[in-house]
Amino acid sequence: MNRYSAWRLLSNGLTHREWPAAWRPHEPRASYDVVVIGGGVHGLATAYYLATNHGIRNVAVLDKSYIGSGGSGRNTAIVRSNYLTPEGVAFYDRSVKLYERLSATLNFNVMFSQRGHMTLAHNDSSLRTMRWRAEVNKLQKIDSEVIYPDEIKRRVPHLDVSPHARYPILGALYHPPGGIIRHDAVVWGYARGADAAGVHIHQNTEVRDIEVSGGKVTGVLTDKGRIATGTVVNCTAGWATTVADMAGVPLPIQTFPLQAAVTEPVRPFLETVIVSGSLHVYVSQTDRGELVFGASVDPFASYSTRGSLEFIEGLAGHVLELMPALSKMRLLRQWAGLCDMTPDFSPIMGFTPVDGFLVDVGWGTYGFKAGPVSGEAMAECIATSRTPTIIDAFGIDRFDSGDLVGEKGAAAVGH
Ligand SMILES: Cc1cc2nc3c(=O)[nH]c(=O)nc-3n(C[C@H](O)[C@H](O)[C@H](O)COP(=O)(O)OP(=O)(O)OC[C@H]3O[C@@H](n4cnc5c(N)ncnc54)[C@H](O)[C@@H]3O)c2cc1C
Repeated sequence: MNRYSAWRLLSNGLTHREWPAAWRPHEPRASYDVVVIGGGVHGLATAYYLATNHGIRNVAVLDKSYIGSGGSGRNTAIVRSNYLTPEGVAFYDRSVKLYERLSATLNFNVMFSQRGHMTLAHNDSSLRTMRWRAEVNKLQKIDSEVIYPDEIKRRVPHLDVSPHARYPILGALYHPPGGIIRHDAVVWGYARGADAAGVHIHQNTEVRDIEVSGGKVTGVLTDKGRIATGTVVNCTAGWATTVADMAGVPLPIQTFPLQAAVTEPVRPFLETVIVSGSLHVYVSQTDRGELVFGASVDPFASYSTRGSLEFIEGLAGHVLELMPALSKMRLLRQWAGLCDMTPDFSPIMGFTPVDGFLVDVGWGTYGFKAGPVSGEAMAECIATSRTPTIIDAFGIDRFDSGDLVGEKGAAAVGH
């Protein structure tokens, strides 16, 4: 892999040398050991760890569009581990740890900024959930505590913490290791690393069908022809059910649009990521100075990625309830992505009843932060034919047994 360094920058600049392509186009092979469908963070991380942790390099990542064109390039880039269930906390904590070293691992700056994450409580029941989460978090050594209005005001002076606010702030769950990251860089870094390790990345290659013979995967049919393989991993997020249907595996998932918006850039004033579950809104400030606003999913299942005026009106109103000083800010743009929602707000990962067909789906509104740990775990699944402990709770069989992993209290808005 072409290593990036200050010396390289200087020497390429002085000699006007072209940088080599970070991931290269290839003709599809007739067969691969593993075909990963979906070139978002999950698919690329899975391919990267297959090649680097397990030496499985005859791997293709197929994406019907360009890499990062799905949720991975549309999310609001919040990373945190202060979930509600012990299984969720352990899982997302591993991802935060991998993110902390990711720039060094990939030799690519992913700009992880651990600036703290604050979830506001506006009523007694929210405060109770915050205390519950703080206890679960602390038991797993996650830095997370409930703080009260004086401390909240000290950390975020622009928040209206007065008792006369329409939705008074009673307290907050404060999580210092949480923060934001540059999502494109994560996608590009994994793509570059996977390519260097021998993985083939095929953009603009759509999977139209999955061949299953005698209960086992034998290949995929793409718009560029057939590829033989005994192992297919479905990492297609908002399209997860359409791809799983090709293999005859029904998933308990519904797809909803999720919208977000960004303002013009202003001087840095907001260090922490602010979330209000009751107001269905969150705000963070990027390194460029823009304010990123997000919310919960649209109320109707759909594959539409159009923004709506109704959304932006509601969002702006709620942001101003929290920070009235932002009333003069101008919105620059809004966008939407697709989210594959499961009944318990936890992912579905691992083996399925079809031999050789694995899923890494159900990422809803919160899956970007899980990219590294998911890639690592899915690669281990494939390489060892066993389910790693860290994803044991997320198997598809939980919907038969009823052992759900209820994360709604920590994942409905906070992403
Ligand atoms: C507005 C918004 C804000 C969000 N904010 C956050 C956040 O702050 N933090 C967080 O953790 N998560 C967040 N999320 C969720 C997060 O973006 C997703 O969970 C995550 O990106 C899913 O990654 P992925 O790699 O599984 O899928 P994606 O990145 O969606 O990639 C799936 C890929 O599959 C491809 N594909 C689909 N069908 C086919 C086919 N038949 N053949 C070939 N390719 C196919 C698509 O082209 C796509 O590129 C947000 C999502 C949105 C929309």
